[in-house]
Amino acid sequence: MKASNSKAEGWLRVTPAGLYCAPGDFYVDPGRAVARALVTHGHADHARPGHEAVLATQETLAIMKVRYGEGAGRSHQPLAYGQREDIGGVTVWFAPAGHVLGSAQAVLEWRGRRVVVSGDFKRRPDPTCAGFEVVPCDVFITEATFGLPVFRHPPDAEEIGKLLRAQELFPDRALLLGAYSLGKAQRLIALLRAAGYERPIYLHGALKKLTELYESLGVPLGDLQPVQALAKAELKGEIVMAPPSALNDRWSRRLPEPLTAMASGWMTVRQRARQRGAELPLVVSDHADWDELTRTLEEVAAPEVWVTHGNEEALVHYARSRGFDARALSLLGRGEEEQEAGAGTGTAEAAS
Ligand SMILES: [Zn+2]
Ligand SMILES: [Zn+2]
Repeated sequence: MKASNSKAEGWLRVTPAGLYCAPGDFYVDPGRAVARALVTHGHADHARPGHEAVLATQETLAIMKVRYGEGAGRSHQPLAYGQREDIGGVTVWFAPAGHVLGSAQAVLEWRGRRVVVSGDFKRRPDPTCAGFEVVPCDVFITEATFGLPVFRHPPDAEEIGKLLRAQELFPDRALLLGAYSLGKAQRLIALLRAAGYERPIYLHGALKKLTELYESLGVPLGDLQPVQALAKAELKGEIVMAPPSALNDRWSRRLPEPLTAMASGWMTVRQRARQRGAELPLVVSDHADWDELTRTLEEVAAPEVWVTHGNEEALVHYARSRGFDARALSLLGRGEEEQEAGAGTGTAEAAS
């Protein structure tokens, strides 16, 4: 094992506002408003409002504008995957993270050392975003949302198959599918289309803006209709998508005997499915499962691994057992997106 005294620590450190790069004087995914932020992707626990300057992919900047409007940051600088930018002598570039549209790993290079901040990522193919790219580096900073061996996400097609079978079995009920408004909803629609489902899919108002944004950024999603396009009885046998918060609230009363499904990596945990009131839990996650996390450590092969949000301990333990110099970094306020309940689009949710 390598010496535990990190060479990278001098120029990259955890501060109350988040991960800070001293020579470049910028933060990566800061938890509060700062002068200069690199933002890996649009989920609210990584993309906060109110920064002075934001460097992110074009797609992430567009998502931030939809979610925050004026609050998306004073100046926006887009950086395409692979394009280099010099910030105070630090070379910065983005590599795809495979998490949601525009999601990136931030690659930071300084004085011959390379650190990769993965943000959030997954390894399985997602028709709505570019696939994760392995970037060899000296220090790999990884999430660990599902960093326990119990989390092994099944193939997506299997979970979509469950949904389509339920639709066949219950032609008199609306199939109400709960999904987070950024990433998960659009991916589920794309997976349904890939499975040959061509009928209209009916959307809760809170999913509208980001879904339209995905389409405008070149992700085709087929025939989408607002749920109010049909009368209650006409929604029998149709697939309706809504943010998780709407599954059990008054809004769902407009649907005929809704059969509630919920798509999340947490659906592996029965108690979580019950809390959500999901009759049909579907394990579809935008985060790497245990096998994807461990495989990624091996492929990236960074001698040093820093583990951020999630189940840090188990992944740190695993990494050490494999000869990596691994440690847990505690970054506050991360990993909340699975609880955010699609609230990012604000009032649209209440309105429809
Ligand atoms: Zn995320
Ligand atoms: Zn996250």
